[in-house]
Amino acid sequence: MLTNPRDRAWVEVQAGALLRNASTLRQVVGPDALLIPMVKADAYGLGLSEAVRILETADPWGFGVATLAEGLELRRLGVVSPVLVVSPLPPASTEAAVEAGMQLGVSSPEALRLVTEAAERVGRAVDIHVEVDTGIGRAGFDWKDARGWKHDLDNAINVGARWVGAYTHLHSADEDPQTVLQQWGRFQEALSELSVPDSVLIHVVNSAGALRLPELAASAIRTGIFLYGGRAGTGLQAPEPVVSVHARVVHIRQAHAGDTVGYGATYQAEAKEQWASLAIGYGDGIPRLLGNRGSVLIRGCRAPIIGRISMDITVVNISDIANISLGDVATLIGSDKGEQITVDDVAEQADTIGYEILTGLSARLPRIWRGLDE
Ligand SMILES: *Cc1c(COP(=O)(O)O)cnc(C)c1O
Repeated sequence: MLTNPRDRAWVEVQAGALLRNASTLRQVVGPDALLIPMVKADAYGLGLSEAVRILETADPWGFGVATLAEGLELRRLGVVSPVLVVSPLPPASTEAAVEAGMQLGVSSPEALRLVTEAAERVGRAVDIHVEVDTGIGRAGFDWKDARGWKHDLDNAINVGARWVGAYTHLHSADEDPQTVLQQWGRFQEALSELSVPDSVLIHVVNSAGALRLPELAASAIRTGIFLYGGRAGTGLQAPEPVVSVHARVVHIRQAHAGDTVGYGATYQAEAKEQWASLAIGYGDGIPRLLGNRGSVLIRGCRAPIIGRISMDITVVNISDIANISLGDVATLIGSDKGEQITVDDVAEQADTIGYEILTGLSARLPRIWRGLDE
């Protein structure tokens, strides 16, 4: 049985805006830095296959992912350019990753040993990117001890690992240029201990780093959030919005003073009000924290969310908006007749970041891409 993806609630993704955000980053860092779009977590929730189809037209170096399964999915989609798994792999995934020809971030002597042993077993070379920990603390060789682990790296290269890249990950580029410079200095210090061949790809900055300090773009930039329309950081250029979220009005109710709405009955009508129930809830990835806090757009007007958001339904107060009927479309993220709610507005109201809002949009919401085949 076919259902219309716009029956209930859905996500719209603007392919053109994604591509324009990629060109903006390119213009900011200049022609010498290659682009490594990070497409982990289903391209930040937008949909991997479509995102990759669009991003391939921006001529990237390759793609960055966090897991082996994501890398394999890229190959299944026909991606032939390099695929870099940036996060440390669980040991049990190493052999399959090498066999599939993934380029692998390595963060420890143990990881070097695992990848070289796997390469030997499967009979093919492994391409590695050395991650240096300059303060993120979650992965990478300790920058202070480059002299100590240099010899593990040399050993790995001696037994056939190909040293393709070196990188570090910034922890505060979204708010603080000073820490970026400190991490850059630490990274350079580590590299200076390693006698790095010219062929090694050096990549440091994420979206925020690229916008804040484009002179640190080095050989390549690893960017995600800005491409997908999320703000990279305070005081930085805003991206063009890429994602919008919509839901249908499925119930309209006249409320009277004292009537309550939602679990916990946390909202009570003070007088005669009109309420609309929208067919979307936290089961779709709308943060429950928006209850009694956020708002939506209907017919170009703002309607406050009242009561707690439930799994499948969100109720809004439409007392100030005329002529709303069943089946009308509410916009939870996006614009409607000049009014706008950005991903980051929602993130702020939900005490989180745009990344979590985007990646949290659940599989129940169909992704409808606009401008993909134009
Ligand atoms: C996710 C990720 C990025 C991209 O960061 P954005 O802030 O989304 O641009 C870059 N590098 C690594 C290692 C990552 O995990």
